[in-house]
Amino acid sequence: MYSNDSGNTASFNSSPAAGGASLRRAFSRVYVEETAYAYPRTERILEKLSADTVIKIRDYKNIFNRPNQAAALQKRAPAVILAVLKPPFLYPGAAVCQDFGERHFYYTSCVMNCPYDCEYCYLQGMYPSGDIVIFVNLEDIFTEITKVLTKHPLYVCISFDTDLPALEGLTGFLKDWAEFARNNPSLLLEVRTKSAAIQAISALPVLPNMILAVTVSPEPLRSRFEHRTASLSDRLKLVRTALLEGRPVRLCFDPMIWTPDFETLYGELFQTVREQLPAGKLRDVSVGTFRISAEYLKRMRKNRPCLVTAYPYTNQDGIYGYEPERVQAMLGFAAKQLEGMLPKEKIFFSEDLPKGVL
Ligand code: SF4
Repeated sequence: MYSNDSGNTASFNSSPAAGGASLRRAFSRVYVEETAYAYPRTERILEKLSADTVIKIRDYKNIFNRPNQAAALQKRAPAVILAVLKPPFLYPGAAVCQDFGERHFYYTSCVMNCPYDCEYCYLQGMYPSGDIVIFVNLEDIFTEITKVLTKHPLYVCISFDTDLPALEGLTGFLKDWAEFARNNPSLLLEVRTKSAAIQAISALPVLPNMILAVTVSPEPLRSRFEHRTASLSDRLKLVRTALLEGRPVRLCFDPMIWTPDFETLYGELFQTVREQLPAGKLRDVSVGTFRISAEYLKRMRKNRPCLVTAYPYTNQDGIYGYEPERVQAMLGFAAKQLEGMLPKEKIFFSEDLPKGVL
C-alpha cells in the first residue's frame, strides 16, 4: 500500500503481512531478467507480487534505459523489474552527500528508484525511468564488502537511491543487510527513509552498526512536494519507537527547502522535534540545504518542472545550490534551533558555518 498525502497510512507496504492485492495494485507490470530466476529471492518476491503476468527479459536495461520514457507518469504506477546487479557493487560517496566524518564512505544500490515521489528527488535527473529495479543478488554485494573490510572499515549507505524500509514488506532486504552487519562489526550501515515503517524496522535486530536515518520536513512542504511519503508525525513515531528499542537513529533535516516563510515553517518543525523526541538520545543530526548536480537539475527542469527546481540556483563546481549567503542563513537558523538539543559534535552540516554560530 502507498501512504497517502494525508499521512493516514504508515508507509508503502511497511507491513510484512501486506502483499497480494495491495502489491498488485502498486505495480503495473512485473519483469524478470532470465538470470534472476536462479536466485531464491526472485521466487520470494514474485510470490508476494502474485502478478497475473510476468514478462521475462534478457537485460533490465532494455526496459529501464529505453529512450523517451515518461518517468513522472511511470512513478504513478511503476513496473517492478527483478534483475542481477553487475559490478561495480560499491561507489564512493558523492560530493553532495555528507560523510559524517567517516573516512571510507561508500554507497550501494541494491534497488534503483523509489516508491515515493518527491518532486525534488535527484533520481529523476539520474534515471531515465520511473520503474523500480530490484537486484536479487545481494550476496555479490556482500562478497565485495567483505573483501574491502579486510583492508579497512567501511561506512556504506544502502538506501540512497530508494527507500528500503518502504519496500521491506516486498524485498526483505533489510533483514539480510542486518544479518550481514551483525557478522561484520567493522561495517557501519546507514538506512535512510521517509517512511514510517515501524513494523519493518522493529522486526530487525538492534545493531550498533546499523543507523536508521529518518528525514524530516515541515508538514506543509512534505504534503506539497513529498508525495506518498509518511507524514511528519508518523515519521516521528518511527523515530520514537526506534529510539525506545535502542537503535542508533540519525535525524536528517536535509534537504531544507527555501521558501519565503522558511523561518516559520522550519521553526515549527524544530519545535515539534523538540517537543516530541528525546533529542539527546539521537545518534546524530544532519542538516543540509537543497543541492544537486548541474546535470541532474537540467534534466529535472526539462522533464518535471516544479517550484523547487525552478529556483535560480548558483552553480559551484558543477553543483547547484542556493546562493552562499542564503545557505549560511538557512544553516545558521537551523544551528540556532538545534542549540542545546544535543552536543554540537553530533550535529553535521552540509557546509561549514562561520565560527561561533554553534
Ligand atoms: S524518498 Fe528520497 S529517494 Fe524516494 S522519492 Fe523521495 S527523495 Fe527520492
